[in-house]
Amino acid sequence: MGKGEFELIGWIKEQFEVPEGILGIGDDCAVIPQRDGLETLVTTDMLVDGIHFLMEDIDPYSLGWKSAAVNLSDIAGMGGKPVGTFLSTALPKSIPDGFTEEFIRGYKDISDRFNCPLLGGDTTAAKDRLCISVTVLGSCGAGQSLKRSGARTGDLVCVTGTLGDSAAGLRIILEGHSERQEFLIGRHYRPVPRVAEGQKLAATTGIGACMDISDGIGSDLRHILEASGVSASVDVRSLPLSAELRDLCARRGWDAAELALDGGEDYELLFTCRPGTPVSIPHTVIGEIIAAPDGSDPAVPVIIWEGTDRDFTGFRHF
Ligand code: ADP
Ligand code: MG
Repeated sequence: MGKGEFELIGWIKEQFEVPEGILGIGDDCAVIPQRDGLETLVTTDMLVDGIHFLMEDIDPYSLGWKSAAVNLSDIAGMGGKPVGTFLSTALPKSIPDGFTEEFIRGYKDISDRFNCPLLGGDTTAAKDRLCISVTVLGSCGAGQSLKRSGARTGDLVCVTGTLGDSAAGLRIILEGHSERQEFLIGRHYRPVPRVAEGQKLAATTGIGACMDISDGIGSDLRHILEASGVSASVDVRSLPLSAELRDLCARRGWDAAELALDGGEDYELLFTCRPGTPVSIPHTVIGEIIAAPDGSDPAVPVIIWEGTDRDFTGFRHF
């Protein structure tokens, strides 16, 4: 069809009419109001061998962990509480003995951390490559879920944790460095979604927009800006970077800002808040929401990257 990833999703969205009150395609989760004063959150994400992971590199325990974690992260991005998951796998004949047991052990360890049991799924054969699909159900108080559309001019742009570790971990894995970088590789293989932090943000007055960072801020912040009809300035000198990442970049000449902004798979939270909001979770302010600059197309948000002459657009699948 020749469309980019987001253009294609936009086209699919236009084909369906969604009842009033339900939030469909376009955020980390769909949001469905319930009669008991709660909202149900639903999210689904696939992991495909050769695209999201490499069978020859990742161990099955980490793959199970990551499959659940990246989906739980979308519940975190809405400030929800995970309720249960569904796991579907298409398994090629080449799957080694014991693979599924180890996969489920990893899947269960991260699920148990958030009291989120596996409730169902599907198991089929695959011709060639392993394909994993996970769906998570979550819940949230009515009207409390944090959307991408909540950013306002004057908000501070904030992130939890550190950025770029996962992308550096992936580069280490792909380049086959002999040096051990367990922290960075662990951040890539076994991310810990910010579920508790998301729930705290949802309970705080003054939070604007929120989402989890899966494609890098160069892409993900643009989603918030598009949904909210605003622009932003981000100071790349203020990006939170781990000591491990700084050290590796210094030694290898890697660009930490590029890993942090274009790399993706951090599964941290990106959120905005009104100045003075009592944010009770550890976070770093990296920028500010601004009105669309004069003369710019209001439908195309602008990010002014301070402290660099480069642009960052995040990770794109196609
Ligand atoms: P995330 O990175 O948070 O998982 P995605 O970029 O995968 O988000 O998807 C963005 C939005 O588009 C989400 O609301 C998702 O549910 C929706 N979406 C993606 N692919 C499809 C599809 N094939 N059909 C319907 N909705 C889709
Ligand atoms: Mg997301």
